[in-house]
Amino acid sequence: MSGQEPTSCCAIKVYRLNHGTANEGTTSRSSQRLGPVNKPSMGCRADGQFSNSIARPRLLRVSRPCGNAYNCRVDNQTVSLQLIVRDMSAVTPPLHTLHSRHYRDNKFVYPVLSRRSKGISLGVNLNPDKICNFDCIYCQVDRRSEAETDFVDLQQVLDELRHLLEIATNGQLYADEPFCQVPEHLRRLNDIAFSGDGEPTTYRNFDEIISQVAQLKDELGLAATKMVLITNASMFHRPAVERGLALLDQHQGEIWAKLDAGTADYYHLIDRTKIPFQQILDNISAAAKIRPLVIQSLFMRVNSEPPTVTELEAYCDRLNEILTAGGQLSLIQVYTVSRTPAESYVASLSNQEVDAIATLVRQRTGLPTEAYYA
Ligand code: SF4
Repeated sequence: MSGQEPTSCCAIKVYRLNHGTANEGTTSRSSQRLGPVNKPSMGCRADGQFSNSIARPRLLRVSRPCGNAYNCRVDNQTVSLQLIVRDMSAVTPPLHTLHSRHYRDNKFVYPVLSRRSKGISLGVNLNPDKICNFDCIYCQVDRRSEAETDFVDLQQVLDELRHLLEIATNGQLYADEPFCQVPEHLRRLNDIAFSGDGEPTTYRNFDEIISQVAQLKDELGLAATKMVLITNASMFHRPAVERGLALLDQHQGEIWAKLDAGTADYYHLIDRTKIPFQQILDNISAAAKIRPLVIQSLFMRVNSEPPTVTELEAYCDRLNEILTAGGQLSLIQVYTVSRTPAESYVASLSNQEVDAIATLVRQRTGLPTEAYYA
């Protein structure tokens, strides 16, 4: 993530309420294009409700089922009026924080505006069962709600991906909420990311899906589009995963491997897995000898405590050991918690703290390092 934020658009939405039912009317990014709208007009309050100024005061309740798709109800059975939301940014979180893994009726493929990618990333969720071999204390996956399916239907993955690749490249994706908010300069397809509700490389046919997605890219004339594997590196030693990584190498693949600690104790505290720390280090080191890896490292406050200097220095030592063993690391991404974590005792670091870690890593390893904030 570069820290480059999408600007919130000042969307104007018009709702026509007939007989107590709210129907979305015209949507425009410019009030000038709409022209005057029948009175009464409604003011938007920061608490997500609308109050009006017509003769008999009335409160409109507003819910936000997803993105900016606002629905309205009015406490009157037969009312006909128009509602103008003048500034959706007052009630709309920044789009890059909306990393919903749901898009329309899709089960496996979802678009997100990615700060790191500076564009649209199409996520492929190979873990719809929400099972992961890590249990990170900062994980954002909502495991309280039931999984929709625990079976990866390869053909459906490919169908959903084909459709999203098409609409992300022909512009149709930006016609509707919430992606109509994406600023022009970020309306670009950046990558296909294998990242979901668990560790993607635990998917049994990992090499097959990488192969099929690569073929699909070629067929659609998108061979140059990157494929990004976001992984905890725990399964790199499996033959099917080794084959999948090799296919990524041949098809514009990038591997972003997680490393959240410098010591085994801190690793187990943060990532809560039975997989030994040394296994992760060995896997990263072996994979990095074949191609350059991006390392993703998330640091946070745990019970109000940031990582100690000793821990951070040990983390830098692990990176240096990978380099000394002949591993190639193209980038270190230092970031912090930016969405609701699994555990309530986890909190984000300040921008200054993230910057200080990035500086330490740069100084002690000489590696290119980028900082991403909460
Ligand atoms: S590896 Fe990823 S999906 Fe698995 S628990 Fe950690 S953050 Fe969540």
